[in-house]
Amino acid sequence: MLLEGKVVAVTGGSRGIGRAVALACAREGADVVLNFLVSGAADGSANPGQEVIDAIRGMGRRAIAAEGDVADPATGTAIVTGAVEAFGKLDVLVSNAGICPFHTFLDMPLDIMRRTVEVNLFGTFYVVQAAANQMVRQGRGGSIIGVSSVSALVGGAQQTHYTPTKAGIHSLMQSCAIALGPYGIRCNSVLPGTIGTDINKEDLSDPAKREYFSKRIPLGRLGEPDDLGGPVVFLASDMAQYVNGAALLVDGGLFVNLQ
Ligand code: NAP
Repeated sequence: MLLEGKVVAVTGGSRGIGRAVALACAREGADVVLNFLVSGAADGSANPGQEVIDAIRGMGRRAIAAEGDVADPATGTAIVTGAVEAFGKLDVLVSNAGICPFHTFLDMPLDIMRRTVEVNLFGTFYVVQAAANQMVRQGRGGSIIGVSSVSALVGGAQQTHYTPTKAGIHSLMQSCAIALGPYGIRCNSVLPGTIGTDINKEDLSDPAKREYFSKRIPLGRLGEPDDLGGPVVFLASDMAQYVNGAALLVDGGLFVNLQ
């Protein structure tokens, strides 16, 4: 129980990596504030965010939803207010919400570029700033984890709008490690490799691409959302009490395999 008694907020927690991270934190004893964007499918079918909340409650932990667009600064405030009202505090923030609408560079519509930066980079900034102010008020330190990407370190022809945001998150966590270290707030990033989720479902539906990645990744398989659970729990926990400003690759060895 590495996170017993801790309150963890996860943005983009209804699906993919955020969902897996939220469940992993709850399994380690945390109560969870779950942010996501939609409040249910238009056809009235199940709300994936609510399913995650129900699963966490099923483990005997407490969980609340803090729905909202992270590109709106008010969402960061609402996440913090929700944590304080429901659980009295916020110990850990996992800023995970992100989008990657694959597109070629030469004809990139500016609204796609703008939205990607607003959600991924501004969104992270807003939520991190709101959480950090609460942690400073509490006076007991904390842990902030930015979900960056291996794309912070390499380019992508269809991701010219996305890779700068992921490099930005990596850099933001480094600067925040310095700005917030004196308050005992540790700031780190995780850099996932290629993880099979909705964000890249269409891209990875190409068998040639799947085969390329499987061959290129030394561990021999694409990543799964659960692969992020352990690394994030570690960074969130007191096991990582002296880890600040780090960037943890979680990519099966993809980045170092330059062949
Ligand atoms: P995903 O399956 O598409 O899930 C994205 C999550 O973010 C969903 O919960 C979604 O909520 C939420 N979200 C999207 N826009 C939002 C907004 N404006 N405000 C609040 N929540 C929002 O994607 P994923 O693969 O798990 O990606 C999660 C993070 O990991 C992203 O930051 C991504 O860049 C990063 N990452 C992913 C990979 C990969 O290979 N999958 C690799 C490196 C980094 P709704 O369900 O409500 O839409």
